Amino acid sequence: MSQYYLLQNQKRCIGCLSCEVHCKSNKGLPVGPRLGQIIPVGPKLINQQPRQAFVFMPCFHCSEPWCVPACPTGAMRMRPKDGIVYVEQSLCVGCKSCIIACPWGAPQWNPETGKVVKCDYCMDRVDQGLEPACVAKCVTHCLSFGRADRLEQSRRERFAEAVAFELTEIVSAR
Ligand code: SF4
Ligand code: SF4
Repeated sequence: MSQYYLLQNQKRCIGCLSCEVHCKSNKGLPVGPRLGQIIPVGPKLINQQPRQAFVFMPCFHCSEPWCVPACPTGAMRMRPKDGIVYVEQSLCVGCKSCIIACPWGAPQWNPETGKVVKCDYCMDRVDQGLEPACVAKCVTHCLSFGRADRLEQSRRERFAEAVAFELTEIVSAR
C-alpha cells in the first residue's frame, strides 16, 4: 500500500457520482475511463427494507502491484517516496498489459490518447498539500484522505475491515 489511505464512509455515500465527475474533470478525461468508480451494490431486502450501497473503488496502490511488473516499458511505476502507483504517460505504448494484470480493473483505457490512465491519488495535488479531486468534491464528505502513519490504530483497523468488506461486496455483486 502507499503511504496514504483513501477511505469511504459508505453510510454517508448517496451515489451522486460527484467524485467521479470531478476526477474526470481534473484529469481532462473523455467519456470512457473511470479512475475512481462508484459501484452500486443492491438493492437488497434487509429486514424487509430495500437497501442500496455505493462502494467507491479507486486503485488500491498495492504494496506489490501486479500492474507494475506487467508493464514492458516501465511506464507503470511506483513512486519511491510514497508508494503511489502511476503511469508515466510518455513511456506508455498502450499495450494494455497492466489492464489485464490488475485484478481490480483499476487501470483504464483512454481512447483519446491510446494510452492507459489510472488513479494516482492526484499526486500533483497531493504534492501541493491538496486532497485528491474526488475527496475535495464529495458532497457528503464521505471520502477522506491522508497519511496512513498518522491514522490511529483503531481507525487503521476500521479501514482494513472496510476495504475487506468492500471487496467482498464488489465480488458478490458481479
Ligand atoms: S492498478 Fe491494480 S494492481 Fe496496480 S496498484 Fe492499482 S489495484 Fe494494485
Ligand atoms: S498499457 Fe502502458 S502502462 Fe500499461 S503495460 Fe502497456 S505500456 Fe505499460
